[in-house]
Amino acid sequence: MKSCCKSTVSLLLCLASSCSGDGQARPNVLLISVDMLRADHLGSYGYGRETSPHLDRLAKEGVLFEDCISSAPWTLPTHAALFTGLPDSVHGCTDSDRALAPGFTTLAERFKQGGYATTGFFSGPYLHPAFGLGQGFDSYVNCTSYARAIDGQPAEDWAMDTEVMHSSHRDVTSPTVTEEVLGWLAGRGDGGNGQAEPFFMFVHLWDVHFDFLPPAPYDELFAGEYGGSVSGEDFFFDPAIHADMPAADREHLLDLYDGEIRWTDHHIGLILAALEERGLLENTVVALTADHGTEFFEHGGKAHRMTLFEEVLRVPLVLRYPAAIPAGTRVRSLARTVDIAPTLLELADLAPLAPAGGRSLLPAMQGGGDPGVAAVSELFSVGRAMRSVRTERWKFIDDMGRGTFAWYDLAADPRELHPSQDLTQGLGQEARDGYLEAMAELERLYAARPAAPAQAQVPAAVDAHLRALGYVGADGADGADGADGDDGDGGAGEK
Ligand SMILES: [Zn+2]
Repeated sequence: MKSCCKSTVSLLLCLASSCSGDGQARPNVLLISVDMLRADHLGSYGYGRETSPHLDRLAKEGVLFEDCISSAPWTLPTHAALFTGLPDSVHGCTDSDRALAPGFTTLAERFKQGGYATTGFFSGPYLHPAFGLGQGFDSYVNCTSYARAIDGQPAEDWAMDTEVMHSSHRDVTSPTVTEEVLGWLAGRGDGGNGQAEPFFMFVHLWDVHFDFLPPAPYDELFAGEYGGSVSGEDFFFDPAIHADMPAADREHLLDLYDGEIRWTDHHIGLILAALEERGLLENTVVALTADHGTEFFEHGGKAHRMTLFEEVLRVPLVLRYPAAIPAGTRVRSLARTVDIAPTLLELADLAPLAPAGGRSLLPAMQGGGDPGVAAVSELFSVGRAMRSVRTERWKFIDDMGRGTFAWYDLAADPRELHPSQDLTQGLGQEARDGYLEAMAELERLYAARPAAPAQAQVPAAVDAHLRALGYVGADGADGADGADGDDGDGGAGEK
């Protein structure tokens, strides 16, 4: 057997393509993260609007995971989890002043060790290399429009800066990302003839994230007649956008959110077309996911980074790779974003990362699944301290900050509106046991972590500035969110 045919995946590759025996058959890998993209707003996930034709095509030609859960409801920890395959409290990037330590091995580093060219393109501030996420990339390109303002400055000088926060919310970056990606592919210069080294490319697309300002014609694509005064601008801070706002205003915001999805999907289509034109698509594993979702008042708040409910944790996950993944596969069993790194590495026949928090989804794609798996999600930021453990049937939320807990029967109560505290019988007992089991596994992983997170100290001047503006409360929680913490209308500002 040829040297690249050691695993099941490699055998499939050898059968499906010319295997040179020296690893040349290894696929390229493209990992796309769409910031704040909810699974339930995509056509292939059953949404009524055509928000995502290119993503839907990707799903039709590959595999779609119906139930994928992210590690956190905000950007920094979720991308660290995506890159390390580890839960948040293990990689340690749980708040804005923390960075991924060099002691962790990332997906990009593993691909680089495996002989891959590695390149990344990001368009939101928490993806900046100051947070340690650039590890392992030969090139890691800042595609934000305010890149010049922050590049070369320590994260603590701008990460929580109000102006950066506002400008990043207004930023429209997909054209820049696409241009940079296409430029990189053109510069690669192999024309898909198999002579160049394989590549691992990470693409972070930001525009679905608020503010909701889709360029024409996407601004009116789903927006019918609307005579109200609310716009997608300043979504996070506009006091007119609240839980009791008129239904027409809320619907208008959803129209604009959907427009942003379609606009971003258009750019995903451009990137896929570029791969196809260069003859690269068939030998490229394409994985598309999101870092988290967002809330439109399902639990009384807006945005995310405040709760661990489904609307902020359930994300899409689609993989396309015809050589190993049968077209049109839909997987119902639970997947997690920490499973993405092990899956991509197995598809590329590279060694898994260690310690391993996730597991490869290859068996699930082949009908195996793992009904016992549980997804751990965490939030240790903006004054919150909470964890959830989610299976296909139930979710247990431990709100350590408030000293409360609850579990939900997701089959009977998918919108998580009926919490239960009864742990003495039936599903409650199962949820309690499952939660404790997941915590024991978390402890095991934590003990095996290769490094503590790197620390970034927020300078006193920036801290005082934020406090004066009311964005940071005395306890570290965001002041705008209110002492009761229940309206969810404020926050220190998710990116
Ligand atoms: Zn995000």
